[in-house]
Amino acid sequence: MPVERHGLTGTPMSGSGPQHFITVDAETDVIRDGIATISAIRDRVEARERIRIPIVWFVRFQRKTSEYKKIDSPEYFAGPVTSAFDGFELARPELVQMLASGDEIGWHYHAYNYVHRTDLSHARRIAIVSADLVACAEAIRARHPYVEARSFRFGWFFIPDYGLFTTLERVGIGVDASIRPGTEGRQVKAFEATYLPALTTTPKKIGNIFFVPYFLTRLIHDYEVVAHDFGWSRMDAASTRRRQEEFEHDLVQTANAVKRGSGSFTTYRTFVASQSSPVA
Ligand SMILES: [Zn+2]
Repeated sequence: MPVERHGLTGTPMSGSGPQHFITVDAETDVIRDGIATISAIRDRVEARERIRIPIVWFVRFQRKTSEYKKIDSPEYFAGPVTSAFDGFELARPELVQMLASGDEIGWHYHAYNYVHRTDLSHARRIAIVSADLVACAEAIRARHPYVEARSFRFGWFFIPDYGLFTTLERVGIGVDASIRPGTEGRQVKAFEATYLPALTTTPKKIGNIFFVPYFLTRLIHDYEVVAHDFGWSRMDAASTRRRQEEFEHDLVQTANAVKRGSGSFTTYRTFVASQSSPVA
């Protein structure tokens, strides 16, 4: 039976009411502090509100940004990953702990080559992204058997081409969290690229990928809760403190809604499992 929620029509998800996804894009040099800080806030709200709040950590793994800017050959990107931003390595102790507590770890990847190399054809850039996704997935598997990331989110929620999901499916991705309805046709940051129309506005399995659009989803980044100055982003202690308070407030509000019977907190892993089992 179709239901109407926040103006979006779709098939009801199993269980009752909306599923709330708390997600973190963990992707910078402050990743360890960011994970520890966000997790501590979650622990506090869990204890106070007496409700379990699992988090999905989308951890960035990919080559150095400079490689994506300089190199224009798909053959190169099909080759081994030598130097990388490897969030799984940088925050390994924290992530192992998060997994043990029932959180989920996903993979976060920015299509830097695509947005920076607008001198290349769309087809060539997609060939590069595709080759690189395969090489990066292999590197993650080889370096970090503890991870088993099945969920995926593109940086800036920017999907350069839906055809890339054929590649992602091949490397073991089963859930995508990159679709953000309402962005279609808009410019991606200051880049010469625009968002594609949303493939779906409700959770839907297409091929072997479960697309879960950004809907009743929270996103916070590692760097929003830790003072930093990366050049492209800077925040002082006071502004990160405010961001932490907002996040905590938001979690409390959602926890209270859940306790009043409005849905539940979930992860993509749990959500997908619930979709494939019969609903009573
Ligand atoms: Zn990102």
